[in-house]
Amino acid sequence: MKNVYLDNNATTRIDDKVIEKMMPYLTDNYANPSSMYDTAHVCANAIEEARCQVADFLGVKNEKNIIFTSCATESANTAIKGVVSHYGNKETKNHIITTQVEHPCVLSVYENLEKKGYKATYVPVNENGELNIDSLLSKITPETILVSVMHANNETGAIYPVYDIAREVKKINKDIKVFVDGVQAAGKIPIELEDTDIDFYSISGHKFHAPKGVGALYVKKGNLFEPLMLGGHQENSLRAGTQNTPYIVGLGEAAKLAKENLTYELTEVKRLRDKLENGILSSVKNAKLNSKSSQRVPNTTNIGFEYIEGELILLYLNELNINASSGSACTSGSLDPSHVLRAQKVPFTSLHGSIRFSLSRFTTEEEVDYAIKNVPEVIKKLARISPFQDELKALGL
Ligand code: PLP
Repeated sequence: MKNVYLDNNATTRIDDKVIEKMMPYLTDNYANPSSMYDTAHVCANAIEEARCQVADFLGVKNEKNIIFTSCATESANTAIKGVVSHYGNKETKNHIITTQVEHPCVLSVYENLEKKGYKATYVPVNENGELNIDSLLSKITPETILVSVMHANNETGAIYPVYDIAREVKKINKDIKVFVDGVQAAGKIPIELEDTDIDFYSISGHKFHAPKGVGALYVKKGNLFEPLMLGGHQENSLRAGTQNTPYIVGLGEAAKLAKENLTYELTEVKRLRDKLENGILSSVKNAKLNSKSSQRVPNTTNIGFEYIEGELILLYLNELNINASSGSACTSGSLDPSHVLRAQKVPFTSLHGSIRFSLSRFTTEEEVDYAIKNVPEVIKKLARISPFQDELKALGL
């Protein structure tokens, strides 16, 4: 069997149509889009077309509210640091709120700001990975300047009610800024930012079939922030640096295609994900679902295998050409169990054996059937060499 790629929350393959659209800007149309001659205008126009495509994808009327960046990590850093340095001060406006299950690109910035004297609150989730809005709102104080909540979790797929959160936050204090990390929602569920109270929203091209190294940040009109990158006047002086025309064109095309394929994602990708999940849960006696939130993106499942080591599962799956992951791509390499699953209080017995399978519109039925056949075999093999023989026997393995 050729490679079975079930790690689409880590990154995705570039759609051939995206490559085709990018190609002229990697070859003939190489002018600097800020220059004054016609060949540069061709590039500048292509960037503006991509800006409209991304705005349309995010349900934003005015494309001027979209800034292109190098990745979603940069978008999150720009929004969080930009808000804190523009609106914050260490005496009276020094409190920032987020959740315990954010991606490291948010958590690390919060931790860094704490070291600089800001106060941070990390709101917990329940055992299903769900967030209680009232609990989050109860953490707001007169010093609060920013609330960051991700739209969908990269490890479990849990969707958070970001529109409601933003609305309720503004009811308490309209000056508090709301940043949403939308990376794992983009291309998987509809996004409509116009007429919402969300101030900043980040996306990353490589999570929805554009290349790595390009992202975007939505900035609601009227929001000021201190730019992260200083230099030239590109991106309306909000993100300096020569624009990466081919990658921005790729991001725009990928956004257009993601919108066109959304119904397929919500029906067919979900059907294949459910087939995979049910196939594994019904045939593996020590398998437990970690993706238990009532709202979940259609492509993700996270399953814990009790008394088995996750890294070993990944190595054995790799031998069979199946790519999956434990934890997020950014934390793999570390043996610490996932902070997301720990926040959900996943028991110790399956915490270390939890695997994320994430599909895309390129995942086939044949690939899912192959995984359904082989994952249980791998778990059976590993159960035989697990040091927890008594516990596994008690489970019938
Ligand atoms: N936010 C979430 C939820 C993610 O899953 C990721 C990537 O895994 C990022 C942010 C960072 O995206 P990028 O690789 O574009 O910096």
